[in-house]
Amino acid sequence: MDFSRIRTAMDVDALQTKKVTLFGAGASVGLSLDLTRCGVSHWQLLDPDVVGFENPQRQGHDPGQIGQPKVEAVATRIREINPSAVVETVPLDVTGWTDEQTQALFAATDLFIAATDSFVAQAFVNRMALLRNVPAVFIGIYAGGLGAEVVWIDPRRRDCCFRCLCSKRYEVQKEAHSGGKSLDPNSEGADIFSVRIPDAVAGQLVIGLLTLGAPNRYGRLIEQLGDRQFLQFSLSPDFKIAGRDILKEKLGIANDVESYFAWNSIAIADPDRGQLPCPDCETYRSHGFEQVDEAWRRVKPIEQVNGTQTAADLFGARPLESSVTL
Ligand SMILES: [Zn+2]
Repeated sequence: MDFSRIRTAMDVDALQTKKVTLFGAGASVGLSLDLTRCGVSHWQLLDPDVVGFENPQRQGHDPGQIGQPKVEAVATRIREINPSAVVETVPLDVTGWTDEQTQALFAATDLFIAATDSFVAQAFVNRMALLRNVPAVFIGIYAGGLGAEVVWIDPRRRDCCFRCLCSKRYEVQKEAHSGGKSLDPNSEGADIFSVRIPDAVAGQLVIGLLTLGAPNRYGRLIEQLGDRQFLQFSLSPDFKIAGRDILKEKLGIANDVESYFAWNSIAIADPDRGQLPCPDCETYRSHGFEQVDEAWRRVKPIEQVNGTQTAADLFGARPLESSVTL
């Protein structure tokens, strides 16, 4: 592939060495193909479903692929773009696997993408990202495709995991599950355009997380975001949460501002600051703590040289309660 026109924007060479594990090979078809165009060449695709008659209209699968496992359908498309791409397909639901069983499966994963409406799968990806100490990006489309969210975590550098950021959701889901109910949104009304905006942002975050610190705009992106790990998008002027235009409120837009309409986004930090660590962080960060500790130790000499510079200044993050040694 000739990447010459995008090399100033992103570290293509680094992307070609990274392995991305994707949960959900449905609405994420466009995202996985676009990341392939950017150089991501080692994929692990997980989805137990086959392409159905209802999928080509909103998931980017081709009608000729109906009946194929979704992971195989996407793998074919990825190889069409980059014939030398390495694509592992796992047409299974592994969310019930034990940590030991996942050890080999995700041993080489550099980043997880959770492109699934399944809360169980999202929760699983969070645990696996913490266990492997690698970043993860979660994409969710709200009811009717009117809004969306993208959440990113990076256990190497940020102390908030998906569960920390969405702790209330875990409580509500736990209650529903104990009553035998699922709160997963159905995809009714979420057409292909509903996924394009959040997917485009999620793709940029993936590149940013995989090429952290590269001397280009994607290499700077994650530092620029700081602790704003929860992004929300309005995809329609009808988008409201509990009857309120949350984005308008967060952006401080007055009611008489005519230019405000739709397709806006906000990026916010952990709404439940100070509630750490969450149960997943307590259980699964054992590997991560070691490396985070190492990172903090590296900061120490710099702080000694410049007394006003704190670790938080350098990393932009709150120290982990269990790893504060400064
Ligand atoms: Zn957590």
